[in-house]
Order: sequence, then structure tokens, then C-alpha cells
Amino acid sequence: MPDKPLAVIIGAGIAGLAAAWWLDKIGWKAIIIEKAPNLQDGGYVMTLSGPCLETLQKMGIKQLLGTISEQFDYNTVKTYSGYELYRLRYSEVHGGMDSMPVRRNDLARILLSHLPSSSEIKFSRRVVSIQDQTETVEIQLDDGHTLHADLVIGADGMRSQVRDMIFEQKDALDFIGLYFAAYNFETDQEPSKNCVSFTRPGQLDMVFSLKNGGMTGYHIWAESRGPPGPRGEGFKKLRELTADCQDVVRDAVRLGEASGTSLVMDSANLVVQPRWSKGRVVLLGDAAHCLTLMSGQGAGMALVSAEMLSQELSRTHDVGEALAAHESRLRPGIERLQRRSRDLAAFYVPRTWLQYFFRNLLAWLMPRKWLVDAHVKGLFAEIETLQDGGPGKSAT
Ligand SMILES: Cc1cc2nc3c(=O)[nH]c(=O)nc-3n(C[C@H](O)[C@H](O)[C@H](O)COP(=O)(O)OP(=O)(O)OC[C@H]3O[C@@H](n4cnc5c(N)ncnc54)[C@H](O)[C@@H]3O)c2cc1C
Repeated sequence: MPDKPLAVIIGAGIAGLAAAWWLDKIGWKAIIIEKAPNLQDGGYVMTLSGPCLETLQKMGIKQLLGTISEQFDYNTVKTYSGYELYRLRYSEVHGGMDSMPVRRNDLARILLSHLPSSSEIKFSRRVVSIQDQTETVEIQLDDGHTLHADLVIGADGMRSQVRDMIFEQKDALDFIGLYFAAYNFETDQEPSKNCVSFTRPGQLDMVFSLKNGGMTGYHIWAESRGPPGPRGEGFKKLRELTADCQDVVRDAVRLGEASGTSLVMDSANLVVQPRWSKGRVVLLGDAAHCLTLMSGQGAGMALVSAEMLSQELSRTHDVGEALAAHESRLRPGIERLQRRSRDLAAFYVPRTWLQYFFRNLLAWLMPRKWLVDAHVKGLFAEIETLQDGGPGKSAT
């Protein structure tokens, strides 16, 4: 029997782990190279909704995720003085459609536990070079090993090293003027199902109460400094940022810091990359098209994209043709979602007092239905766009 084709996947995040699962379904094997010693612990709650739920269903993990997913009743948006601006039912925000708020690390852990036996994962490893040799790709690892693969998948996130190695253009990050921090922590408080947001010009703080008594804190703030790099200031920065906030926000920062949880803090950047593949190397997930946290659809699109990639690879032996077909199906939807991320950033984090005043007035005066419609627009845009090119249209 001929050897199965091999994909080397760089990055064991949502995109990389899902890609390994889908490749196995079409008779490929995969080696995943992850720089961290174990699965990244970047804890925050993220909502999965729209087409990715079908992908998760096909992968046989939707039900399991459903049992651990959070259930939020309301998102209440308040000014910094505590005045309630509006309150939306969480289910309305997703157009009454199925949605699953889950911790990112739970999703990654479940994807890892579902890795097929044809996949291997190497932690604490990095790639030092990638040479596309037309019929195969040669990958040098930092432990001296050399791999030969039929395909390389750069699923190494927003600051992709594969992208920098392969493409001449080195400035794919498009900073949207915001920084963010997010963390989960456990508390012994009464479990609740609510999310409260506090807004002021240039800042949004959100506290989610989780069903097991845990909490997630999100802080988003405007700051113009460049070039935007990863942030290492941790909770010290958050203490300064929230010093004059409501107790619930300051308590989240204090308890989060005391819990010793790991904090994700970075600049919010779109990844705008004119091409996602070159030869036998393709970018997947945030490495190709980070949507920022404002869109709330990045992980969902990474899952859908992994499924679509396997569909295209199953249709042809010409890897280049498959990669081009994958990109042409996905790109129109991604570009729309990226435009929407910018709009959402302006709505959620108005920069000036004037913009803040008009946004609040609008939110206050707008009929509830319009407000809900504005929230669900992106989700429907994603579904519409994928109707023509999404996984449901596959010939497989
Ligand atoms: C605060 C926040 C909230 C969010 N909310 C939502 C939401 O509600 N819904 C939603 O769908 N999405 C949401 N997202 C977006 C979502 O988290 C991302 O789009 C998704 O995790 C991207 O997955 P990925 O696998 O492409 O990249 P990542 O998850 O970033 O994984 C990349 C992996 O590659 C590894 N890696 C990096 N560099 C290298 C290297 N050189 N060599 C080897 N390995 C490497 C990393 O360690 C990591 O394991 C949110 C994001 C944030 C930050």
C-alpha cells in the first residue's frame, strides 16, 4: 500500500488540531510541531456559533462541548458610573441560533483528545527552516531533525513564524488601535449566568460569571503606540487601567491576579495577507486571517477552514490547486468579517467623548430589535457567505 501523504502542521491551536483531524478523514497523516511544552493555557471564554457548530458536530465533539459550555442569560452594558445603558439576552446576540460559550483551553484539550492515531504531536519544538522542493517540502526542526512533507500548514497564530518564513511581505499585522487582556480564574462565589460590561471612551471592561463559580475578565483599551508587540506587563497594567473602575471590575483583576492564572495580553491586529499559500505551504486560522477578538468568530472560522481544506485536498492530487480552491471559497467571507471587526471595534470602544455620547444615545434610543439586528448581522454575513463556498457545498 502506498504511504499516506504527510502534512506537517506548525501550531497546536484550534486550527492546527482541527486540521489534523480532518486530514485523517481523507487518508492523510499529520505531524504537529508546537513550540510550547504543552497545550497553550490562554484561558478565556469564547463563543462558538454559526457554521462551525456543524463542523464540530461532524467531528463528534459538539455534544461533549455542549456539556461543558457556559450558559449566559444576559449581557448588561453599563457606563463607568454604573448606569445601565442596555441589556441583551445572550441568545438574542446570536440571532436565536445555537451558540456555545466555551473556554478556549477546554476546546483545545478536547481537540487534542480526539487526535486520530495517524497524528503525532511534538511539543517544545520549533521549525528553523522550510524549503519547498516542488514535489515535497523539507522542514528542519530545532532538534536537528529533518522532515519531508507533502504539505506544510502554518497554524501558528496571529504572529505566525511560518508566514514570515514563506512570504516576502512581512507586515501582515494591521493594528486596530486596541489592546486587550483576558483571563479565567476560579472563585468560591455563587455561580451565576451573567455578563456585565462597563464602557467609557477608549475602554471596555467585561466580567463573565461562569457556571462553576469561575469568572472570565476581559479588558479592551485604546492605546496608540507602535510597533504593537506582545505585552508582558500582566496584571500590573490591569491594576493601573482599572484603578477607578467599579468594584466588580477591580475585584476581577484582584482575584485573577491572586489566583495565579495565566493572562493573555496583546495588541488587537487583523492579519491581512494577500495570499494564504505558496507552493505546498498554506496558512490556516489566525496565521492567515486573524479577525481580532472583536469579531468573536476567529476560532469558528479556523474550524470551518480546516474542514474545507480537507475537502479540497480530497478532490485533487494537485496540492497547489487544492490550496487555491480553499482560499477562493473562504476569502470573500473573511474579508467581510474583517471589515465588520473594525465596525464593531468602533461601536464597542468609541475613542472620544463625542463618539461615546452618540453611541450611548443610539444604544439608548434604538429599538431593541435594531440593536439585536446589529449584533447578529455578522453572524448572518458569515452564514450567507459560506452558503456558496462553505463546507456544506462540498462534493465529498
Ligand atoms: C480574548 C479573545 C476572545 C475571543 N473570542 C472569540 C469568540 O468568542 N469566538 C471565536 O470564534 N473566536 C474568538 N477569539 C479568536 C480565537 O481565539 C482565535 O481566532 C483562535 O484561537 C485562532 O486559532 P489558531 O489555531 O489559528 O491560533 P492560536 O489559537 O493562536 O494557536 C496557535 C498555536 O501555535 C503555536 N505557535 C505559535 N508560534 C509557533 C511556532 N513558531 N512554532 C510552533 N508553534 C507555534 C502557539 O503556541 C499556539 O498553540 C477570541 C480571541 C481572543 C484573544
